[in-house]
Amino acid sequence: MRTETMAIHAGYEADGPVRSVAVPIYQTAAFEFDSADHAAALFNLEAEGFRYSRISNPTVAVLERRIAALEGGSGALCLGSGQAALHNAVLAIADTGRNIVAVPQIYGTTHTLFSHVLPRMGVTVRFAASESAADLEPLIDANTMAVFCESVGNPAGNVCDIEAIATMAHRHGVPLLVDNTVPSPVLLRPIEYGADIVVHSLTKFLGGHGTTLGGAIVDGGHFPWDAHAERFPMLNQPDESYHGLVYAERFGATAYIERCRNFCLRTTGAALSPLNAFLLLQGIETVALRVERHVANARRVAEALRRDPRISWVTYAGFPDSPYYPLVQKYLGGNACSLLTFGVHGGAQAGMRFYDALGLVKRLVNLGDAKSVACHPASTTHRQMTPAQQLKAGITPEAIRLSVGIEHIDDILADIDQALAAAQVGRDALAPV
Ligand SMILES: *Cc1c(COP(=O)(O)O)cnc(C)c1O
Repeated sequence: MRTETMAIHAGYEADGPVRSVAVPIYQTAAFEFDSADHAAALFNLEAEGFRYSRISNPTVAVLERRIAALEGGSGALCLGSGQAALHNAVLAIADTGRNIVAVPQIYGTTHTLFSHVLPRMGVTVRFAASESAADLEPLIDANTMAVFCESVGNPAGNVCDIEAIATMAHRHGVPLLVDNTVPSPVLLRPIEYGADIVVHSLTKFLGGHGTTLGGAIVDGGHFPWDAHAERFPMLNQPDESYHGLVYAERFGATAYIERCRNFCLRTTGAALSPLNAFLLLQGIETVALRVERHVANARRVAEALRRDPRISWVTYAGFPDSPYYPLVQKYLGGNACSLLTFGVHGGAQAGMRFYDALGLVKRLVNLGDAKSVACHPASTTHRQMTPAQQLKAGITPEAIRLSVGIEHIDDILADIDQALAAAQVGRDALAPV
């Protein structure tokens, strides 16, 4: 099946006497056992079935199979949010004394998880000077458990050369962990380029309507954990927390995702609710159509902004002079993602007047919603930083980040135009005579 078809059908077939065409919502905490023997077989992971919805649930399982299919992985695990997915993805392979090597430009909360939370648990994260394989490589040592990047960075829109980074990581016997939230599997399937583990915030394009938080971890199924037994004892030696289970031996291509479920999610508990899994499945049915429109609208907005004399700069990976343009051709089929950043003439004050004047375009911090949404990082997501730190993170005082929605393009452009006019009026009024 192609992506568009998998988004609607993968992972579910109506069965049983009810034959519900829509995926049923199994709103239950627990599942009944036939007998003590049946329960024991389930607890030994020998029989297929369900025990308790913190570990697995039939509605959530459909979502897991659908996401695994969309990404081309051997299996997936869904969790309560994208951050829970990132935390558990690392927890499954890294313990105290170990490290992760990461690219520098990543989502703010992931940066905080990596620089403030994991280090207190003994897992250090080494940020490279840039996202190039050459800058990442020298940071890898015998205790490196993964290299991390975002396929397309939020908010900067930087595109990573996944194939080059995966080849380099594999040379050292280290897996590549990729956050693929921004392109979604509609535009990019990192496993095809060598990624070993993919994580998602389902909250964004996959859910697509800004209603539901969710996260996913996808196992690529190709990393040879058993060939690197010294680096990965957690997959090659008996798991004390699971009466001696050896994941690599028992599960082969799904060893990693089984450890995520049975070691991490079972004990830390950031489970996705069945109702939220249903809502996310509803969103995913239309993801391919929506992303197509997001991409087309963003291109029109980027081009209009670039022509507009009231705009001082626009960052959009789809412009042929963008440093990321060749990677957009290679990895995204020429479809730059629908995130773009720009500056209004007149500095921070004009930027905030523009932001306040937006009508149709919502002021909030989310992306991938059907609605067009805008964020002013200097006054919100990056407010705690000093102006110098903001500049280092690529945030200028006037910068506005847009996640272009799927409304009619003329309505989006009209709203931006009237907000720019409002920003200029204020500017003239304030200008020295
Ligand atoms: C939003 C986001 C996250 C976090 O996801 P939540 O569902 O909000 O927890 C992680 N990575 C990226 C790239 C994101 O955009």
